[in-house]
Parts: sequence; C-alpha cells; structure tokens
Amino acid sequence: MKVPAKVYTDEEKRCVHQNIAQQVAQLCRQTGRAVVTECETKREKVAAPVAFSLGSLQQACGRLWDMSPQQVLDTAQSLYEKHKATSYPRTDCGYLPESMREEIPGVLDAIGRTDPECVPLLTRLDRAFISRIWNDKKIKAHHGIIPTRTAFQLSALTDPERNVYLLIRRNYLAQFLPLHESDITRLQFDIGGQLFRTTGRTEAIKGWKVLFEKAGDEDVQEDDEAAQVLPPLSQNDVCAVTDAEVSQLMTRPPPHYTFATLIGAMMNAAAFVTDIALRKVLKDNAGLGTEATRAGIIEQLLNRRFIVRKGSKLMATELGTDVIDALPPQLTEPGMTALWEQALDEVAAGRMSLNDFLQRQAGWTRNLVGQGAQQRVNIRVPPSPPCPLCGSKTRLRKGQKGEFWSCQRYPGCKGVINICGSKTRRPRRPKSPESKKN
Ligand SMILES: [Zn+2]
Repeated sequence: MKVPAKVYTDEEKRCVHQNIAQQVAQLCRQTGRAVVTECETKREKVAAPVAFSLGSLQQACGRLWDMSPQQVLDTAQSLYEKHKATSYPRTDCGYLPESMREEIPGVLDAIGRTDPECVPLLTRLDRAFISRIWNDKKIKAHHGIIPTRTAFQLSALTDPERNVYLLIRRNYLAQFLPLHESDITRLQFDIGGQLFRTTGRTEAIKGWKVLFEKAGDEDVQEDDEAAQVLPPLSQNDVCAVTDAEVSQLMTRPPPHYTFATLIGAMMNAAAFVTDIALRKVLKDNAGLGTEATRAGIIEQLLNRRFIVRKGSKLMATELGTDVIDALPPQLTEPGMTALWEQALDEVAAGRMSLNDFLQRQAGWTRNLVGQGAQQRVNIRVPPSPPCPLCGSKTRLRKGQKGEFWSCQRYPGCKGVINICGSKTRRPRRPKSPESKKN
C-alpha cells in the first residue's frame, strides 16, 4: 500500500486527490521495480482471553447468536442457580484469584464428567501453566465466570444454556493451552522514489486458538492486509512490479448498534466524554450502568419504545430522538455519570456526608425540573389506532397478558384492541376439537 505524502491527504491520512494517485500508479508501472528498503519480522505472542465478565459475555453472545443482554443474564443466572454449572454471573471482572488454582483439578474433573467428549482435550492441557488470568490485583467483588466443580447433565441444558456454558468453558480451558504465536513481517519498498508499506502474518503456534476456530466472537477484525502471507524477502532485494492500480474507497458512516456493540459502548462510556478529567473518572471507575443493570437499561429502552430492533440492529425511534432532544445535556451526556461516581467516591472516603450528597442531588433535581417546566417540548408520539367502539383515540396500557390499546374514554367506553404477538402474553391453551367447531 502506498504511503501518501502529507500534502495530499486528509486528517486521517487518506489520499484525497485522485489525479495524484493515478500519477503514482503510472510511475510504478513505468519504473517496473521495487526495492526492499526495510524488512522486519517480529514474533508476536498473544495470551488467551481471560474468563468472561457479564459484560464481555453479553457482547460475545450478542455477536454470535444475537442474544439480548437480558437473555444472556437470564441464561447465565440459570446456569449458576439451577444447574450449578457456572459461577456467579453478575461480575465485572474476568480474572481469577491465585488461590483458586487449587480448584483447577476439581473444575477440570467436573468438565470431563459432564462432557466425556472433552476428555481427549483435557489430557492435552498444561495444568501447571500460569496464565495472566490468575491475578489477585485485578479481583474486585467477584471473579470471572467459570465452570464449577459440580458435574451435571449436559443434556438437561436448553440450547441457549448449552451455548453459553460451552463459551464459558472454552475460555477457562484456554488458560491451560500455549500462547498463540505468529510472525509479523513489516516491509517497506521504494518504487520510483515513492514509499510503500505492507504487513504480513504467518501463524507459528496455534496454541489456545484451537478452541476458537469456529467462534467468530472476537472483537478484533483483522484486516486482509495483516492476514496475508508474504514471500521471504530481505533488505535491498529487488522485485518486479507487475501492475499498479488505484482503488477508490468510500468512508462509511458508523454502523447501527447491535446488542453486542451497545453493551461494549456502555462499558467504555469514557470514549464519548470530551472533558479529560471526567473521562478519566469514567475510565477508572465505571461505564454506564453496572454489570447487573445494563441488560435492564436496554430492555427498558425497548419497552418504552425509545429504541426498536430491526434484525440485529438497534435503532432510535422518533419518540426516543425527541425525548433526548427535549432533555438537558446534563441528563443525556455520560459525563454526568462520572460526576456522580466522583461524588460517591467522596462519600466512600468520608470526605462528604451521605446527607450532603442527597441534598445536592435534591437541589439539582429541583433545578432541572424547574427549568423543564418552562420549556416547550415537541415529542412525536406514534399514532394510536382508533377505538373500535366509539372512534376516539386509544392509549397503550399494560395488563397481565401484555400490552393492549384501550379507549381513552375508559371507563365510559370499554373499547380495546389487543396487540398480537405481545411478548409477555402467554400462549392460549389448545382448545379441544369440540370447542373449535363452535
Ligand atoms: Zn371508545
């Protein structure tokens, strides 16, 4: 790939002058030879990912099976509570305390008894290998989610439970496999006085990646260039230039969020804060929500129709956009979370009393409500169907069987429209053939 001169690039180092690019391509064809000016190969060793925290599990399951964060939490909770298959799921930590190395034989034994197909792999593990997962300094209130020392019936799991269990097990087993090693080669060429660079990668030792071949849940999307295998070359080698072409590429707008990327963005909310001090607070302490609340926050946004699901994409509705536009920035920017975190730290350290904190919050809230009361808001509420009895407007209500539209003149008018496929609605009992005929 050509490294363009600064004068011809935009701020992201992309060449934005097509005629210049064409001239370079022409020059390359004319020169016909490339000289290797720099050649460097480095061995890269990559450790296995640590165990899952709830957030990283939600991201992985979102990517692999489009599971919602709430589904992942419920599934992990059931594996923990009902099947005793995996450890406590509401954790924001993926590491394990060093003392838990004592439990390795017990955990591996339970894995083998639960799933005999796993036994050949278990015999290949290096149980004495100390991966980076064993780290007391990284342990917070809870450790990473891992299999327990209890064997259970694998066939008793539902499909989602099985999927999630296998993912959790995979990351644990990966700790006892060698590091993944590859050789990264960086080459620099001179073609007619122009600078070109390329990178190649050759896998040397598969290591823990044998467990990850089918997965596709890794965040790193290796670009094609980094994945290519380069021929052996050394400095001052001369190669023939067979062709040169200019490829015109388009920048793409950021893609819509999915469950996986939205959870990731909430975990790394610091990236959305411009104030340096506040960004640091968020980076050190918190994202938006906690491991235990993130799934619920997203469910709430869906229930209130501020966002909708279209396939795997999550999109803001007009209602959601209008509500955000109507709210003051203090409430919509993640920097606020940082300020509260900071204040809570002050309370924890005894520099601020709880009472002071609450009084500040009350004053702040009163202020915002006061400001809001004077402000005109314009919120586009999706149209409701007319009442089937009297034709008046209807309102969305929630009943035991899920949501339904009810006449706004209720109780004067009892017109109701049921919403089909309402999620919380239970399926009706199948009727007997006799009653069907009626
Ligand atoms: Zn009515």
